[in-house]
Amino acid sequence: MTARVEEKLYQNRYLVDVRRPHIRIMPHAEPSPNLLAMTRLCPAGCYSLTDRGQIEVVPDGCFECATCRVLCEPSGEIEWNYPRGGFGVLFKFG
Ligand code: SF4
Repeated sequence: MTARVEEKLYQNRYLVDVRRPHIRIMPHAEPSPNLLAMTRLCPAGCYSLTDRGQIEVVPDGCFECATCRVLCEPSGEIEWNYPRGGFGVLFKFG
C-alpha cells in the first residue's frame, strides 16, 4: 500500500519558537516577482498575499527547504535563519 504525500507530511511535528520567527520579510510597497512566487512555491504554504497586496509569512510549519532563501534572501527581501536548536520541524521518517 502506498501512502499519500499529505499523509507522510502529517507525520512531521513542529515546535514553534513563539515570537521568534526564523524567517522575516522586509517591508515592501509591492512584492517582487520572486517574493510573489513564494505564495505558490512554498511547499508548506507559509507565504500568503494580504488584502493590501503585500506578502506575509507565517513560518510555523516551515520544512526548512530553503526555496525562499535561495529566491529572496540574496536581494534582501527576506531574512532567513535556521530555528534555534530544538525548535522548528521534526521530520519523521518511515
Ligand atoms: S524554507 Fe521552504 S518551507 Fe520554509 S518557508 Fe521557505 S519555501 Fe516554505
